[in-house]
Amino acid sequence: MQKKISSASVEVSVVIPIFNEQENVENLCSRLLKTMDATQKTYEIIFVDDGSYDKTLSLLKEIFEKRSDVIRIITFNGNYGQYVAILAGFEHVCGEIVVTLDADLQNLPEEIPHLLEKMSEGYDLVGGYRANRKDSFFRTYASRIINYIRRKATGIKMEDHGCMLRAYKRYIIDEVVKTRETSTFITALAQKFAGNPIDIPVSHEERSAGDSKYNLYKLIRITFDLLTGFSLLPLQIFTMFGMVISLASAVYFLVEVYKKLCGHHGYGLHFAFVFLLLSVIILGIGLLGEYLGRAYFAVCEHPSFVIRDILEKKNKNEEEK
Ligand code: UDP
Ligand code: MG
Repeated sequence: MQKKISSASVEVSVVIPIFNEQENVENLCSRLLKTMDATQKTYEIIFVDDGSYDKTLSLLKEIFEKRSDVIRIITFNGNYGQYVAILAGFEHVCGEIVVTLDADLQNLPEEIPHLLEKMSEGYDLVGGYRANRKDSFFRTYASRIINYIRRKATGIKMEDHGCMLRAYKRYIIDEVVKTRETSTFITALAQKFAGNPIDIPVSHEERSAGDSKYNLYKLIRITFDLLTGFSLLPLQIFTMFGMVISLASAVYFLVEVYKKLCGHHGYGLHFAFVFLLLSVIILGIGLLGEYLGRAYFAVCEHPSFVIRDILEKKNKNEEEK
């Protein structure tokens, strides 16, 4: 009988979302297994098949037959997206360190040991950033714009949210799973929970085979997810806008009243009144949004703080145990 993974002994879990990557599966597995075997660490590889309808799953199963000592496969009934797949993987990890990697070999599996080495220096999150990005012009620049908006809107310092070659201490992953976050920004979320993160450059290759699974629509969705998931900024802009309009229309209204009192014609008074009412409505929507935002964060169970460790002297009873 083959050795089963026991949760106590796993040092590293590698989580890989995979969707229609039949051309990459074999190459990925052989390179990854070789690299991980060489680390001399106990490890598991969790593939999350995101509803592939090509030969990905059957190829994976063949490899699983040979290496079920380290491979686990989670399969979805449909396509839910890369980040949902990663989350499902996170829910099942056993390792003390969790590494994420894409299946398309754009990031090299051979670089995982560098990340692990960096982790051993005491960092709790090692993020890769694509120093020499090899994607289409559109994909590269769209990503840069999203990275810029993210940095400005959320204040989360991270070089490259889209690079999936990252290593996390387990407690960060546990926090991510606990939040029940439905947005797609796992990397940003994890960064928020990290105490001592570092970004290191990693190489980036052309997609080994197949096409990118991202189109313009998906990228726009990601940006919305990011803005609504991590900050109340869009709502706050609305409230601010409402305030400015209210102030301006109040002044306008007073000017018109004054004009009327001085015996001028009072046509503007009607406009001023309508503006004033309108501004109250805008302000009202903004305020409503603020409450909604708070409710949203509460529902997502974003923790107010994350405890990394507690240093304390054990009481006598516990020491005796
Ligand atoms: N992926 C997935 N579900 C999807 C889209 C992508 O699991 O709906 C996987 C895909 O197989 C790959 C990773 O997510 O392992 C990154 O996808 P891709 O390379 O297409 O993204 P890009 O490199 O263009 O950002
Ligand atoms: Mg890719």
